[in-house]
Amino acid sequence: MPILSHLHQLFNADTCHAYIHTLRWKDRPLQCPRCHSHDIDPWGNYHYRPGCKRHWCNGCKRTFNDLTNTMMHQSKRSLPHWILATFLLCLSCSSRRIAREVGVHLRTGYRWCWWLRNAALSYEMPRQLAGTVEADELYHTAGNKGQAQGGGQKSLGRRARGRRKKREPGRGHFDKDRPAISAWVSRQGQVVIQATKDFTVKTVQKAADLAVQAGSKLYTDSASSYRALMGYAHDFVNHTKKEYARGEVHENRAECLFSLLKPYLRVFRGVSKFNLPGYVGFFQFLRNFRQQNAFEQAELILQAALDPAIANRAKKWEFVKCFDHFDLLQTAIN
Ligand SMILES: [Zn+2]
Repeated sequence: MPILSHLHQLFNADTCHAYIHTLRWKDRPLQCPRCHSHDIDPWGNYHYRPGCKRHWCNGCKRTFNDLTNTMMHQSKRSLPHWILATFLLCLSCSSRRIAREVGVHLRTGYRWCWWLRNAALSYEMPRQLAGTVEADELYHTAGNKGQAQGGGQKSLGRRARGRRKKREPGRGHFDKDRPAISAWVSRQGQVVIQATKDFTVKTVQKAADLAVQAGSKLYTDSASSYRALMGYAHDFVNHTKKEYARGEVHENRAECLFSLLKPYLRVFRGVSKFNLPGYVGFFQFLRNFRQQNAFEQAELILQAALDPAIANRAKKWEFVKCFDHFDLLQTAIN
């Protein structure tokens, strides 16, 4: 085996801990994460965790360190593992790839990826677009990947579909394993992407209300669901008449976004339709912070992961659940 078998060995544990310390406490003074007391004394190190400094809280008479109550709390893996995994996630690697390069188990890689994606989505929660917004839709094949035949979380009631899922003709639907993806792209650059069950008038209206501020200017194609939209200054180009742009009116940005989303999703070799909102949401995060490079994006995610409140919710997948518009839109319709 080569001496450098995994990338995380490039990192120095002391440097990583100093970095995480700065990242966690840069906006506020050192504080006990349990009782919020500022009466803190140093309390030595951990022999099994080089670089990690322990503190004693005089308020609650307990010790804590920089990782207490964060996403990395009680993780057996070192900080270099975590930092590198976050960086690779921002380079849109799959969880399998990350597990291989970082040197953790496949399931650890999968769990970390989803926790970190949840932390990233905490930045995308309140996003709503305004001004001039383009919209387009796409049907993406997403089946029941990962749902075990006899076990798993959801029983299929049939044989698991092969990796190469055939698509059916006509419009997609969640029940036909081809949910719709709506993209809303502001001319200022921000994007909102939603996975929805179908592309009916009611769904699109609800999706638009979530993604775009009322009264905004909306440019779309000539799909009837868009033409029925209420509350927006709407104009459209007619693709069937080979009209793709009419002065200001076009949706080329939205189409371009899909040309980036498709290869992003291809990396995962098929996704489960239950996880599609999470993947799409993380792509939205990457896109909205595209001015930053992957390390800067990773720093944003790590900063969220170091916040105890966000880390706690992220470990329960709560941010992805908020992004799951399948049920949200369904309850709105019923
Ligand atoms: Zn305390």
